[in-house]
Amino acid sequence: MKRLDQLHFDNRFARLGDDFSTAVQPEPIAEPRLAIASEAALALLDLDPAEAQRPEFVRLFSGNALWRDAEPRAMVYSGHQFGVYNPRLGDGRGLLLGEVVNEAGEHWDLHLKGAGSTPYSRMGDGRAVLRSSIREFLASEYLAALGVPTTRALCVVASATPVWRERKETAAMLLRLSPSHIRFGHFEYFYYTRQHGALRQLLDFTRANHFPDCADDAALFRAVVERTAEMIAAWQAYGFCHGVMNTDNLSILGLTFDFGPYAFLDDFDARFICNHSDDTGRYSFENQVPIAHWNLSALAQALTPFVPVEALRETLGLFLPLYQAHWLDRMRRRLGFTQAEEADTELIQRLLQLMQGGAVDYPNFFRALGEQPAEAAVGTLREEFVDLAGFDAWAADYCARVAREGGSAEARRARMHAVNPRYSLRNYLAQQAIEAAEAGDFAPLHELHAVLSRPFEEQPGKERYTERPPEWGKHLEISCSS
Ligand code: AMP
Ligand code: MG
Repeated sequence: MKRLDQLHFDNRFARLGDDFSTAVQPEPIAEPRLAIASEAALALLDLDPAEAQRPEFVRLFSGNALWRDAEPRAMVYSGHQFGVYNPRLGDGRGLLLGEVVNEAGEHWDLHLKGAGSTPYSRMGDGRAVLRSSIREFLASEYLAALGVPTTRALCVVASATPVWRERKETAAMLLRLSPSHIRFGHFEYFYYTRQHGALRQLLDFTRANHFPDCADDAALFRAVVERTAEMIAAWQAYGFCHGVMNTDNLSILGLTFDFGPYAFLDDFDARFICNHSDDTGRYSFENQVPIAHWNLSALAQALTPFVPVEALRETLGLFLPLYQAHWLDRMRRRLGFTQAEEADTELIQRLLQLMQGGAVDYPNFFRALGEQPAEAAVGTLREEFVDLAGFDAWAADYCARVAREGGSAEARRARMHAVNPRYSLRNYLAQQAIEAAEAGDFAPLHELHAVLSRPFEEQPGKERYTERPPEWGKHLEISCSS
């Protein structure tokens, strides 16, 4: 276990130099106060959990202090936002403080989000509000607990510094951890500015540090396609809607990244749009699959100086089959299957169609399905479906399928409970914790985070967190401003 002053820095990205990032010092926020820290994330840096309670912790993660070996930099990148190319984005309100090497030899980027203005701030104030910082914290740590590839959140520090959005709010900082903050948009930036030398350097850097098993650029692209397919499959299986899948918000490592107005589905609706500003539904839940493919094509375009178009096109063709295989695997496990049958895809699609637009609670459905033996479970769940004949036909096929699996009911229950969470991050739960935090009470946030960090375990006394949203919490419009 380490103390804060024992972290070891090795700032590889900073060493790439000024073509890739700009040195910028964090601008402190006033009267900083720790809102929350993640013990699981502290462990990634080998930090003693008690360190989070020290005044120095809050000072370091509010821009009021800095390690001697940190080298804060704002990264430059560009990207396609809602399908339109924006030639210059970059870290407008976040800084890469440096890279910490843990005892296992892993590098972790320390990225302080909300650290003040940078050369890439454009019209923005360089700040993040408490509301959005808490939302990112909760989702990062919940997805990690679920087993979905994601960037992590170490802590959120609240402050008295005023920030103006639709209303007056207060600034906060979130410390994000990721093995890398390189995005698809990094490659696009160097491609569209015709800096092929720098693009070459970035590819070499990415391959050497993050994809050491890839022999060349083509293999690197293939690995990115594979990881992205795996991530999107996990999103679709768990009902996660990202909301802003711009190419600057896609991690080269296939990690869920840059949380905006995200949502986890309550009722199942494939056409759900969680981003209030997404008028056309470009980033609707079901569109996440073709959009990921589109984003990979945008990345492929940026690699054309170094990888033959033929090879890129061929690799892009792998995305959908890879996605489908990962999704099928996740869904089979959610339904309690250990073996693969040809007709599984159809069985799963039929279930989703029966749920579509109805009032079935997506997260609770799978948990309840595993709670009892199959026949009893479908009998209980039947009441929630509109098309009873359709459901009965599905239930009969499902029960027959479960019977063919063999094995005990107890083993099935344990297997299903290990992949189907008892507790889910619902918008209304996040909203309640945020409102309390904005009023200065972080206790509800701590409790919600504690419950969600062990989502598969039954936690006596925490039943209220399994409840479906009340009327006010069903279709919360999450503003894009953050
Ligand atoms: P996001 O929507 O958070 O992915 O951000 C898109 C782009 O806008 C990135 O370049 C951000 O750094 C920048 N940005 C977002 N909010 C702010 C802000 N408050 N101040 C400065 N830049 C911002
Ligand atoms: Mg972003």
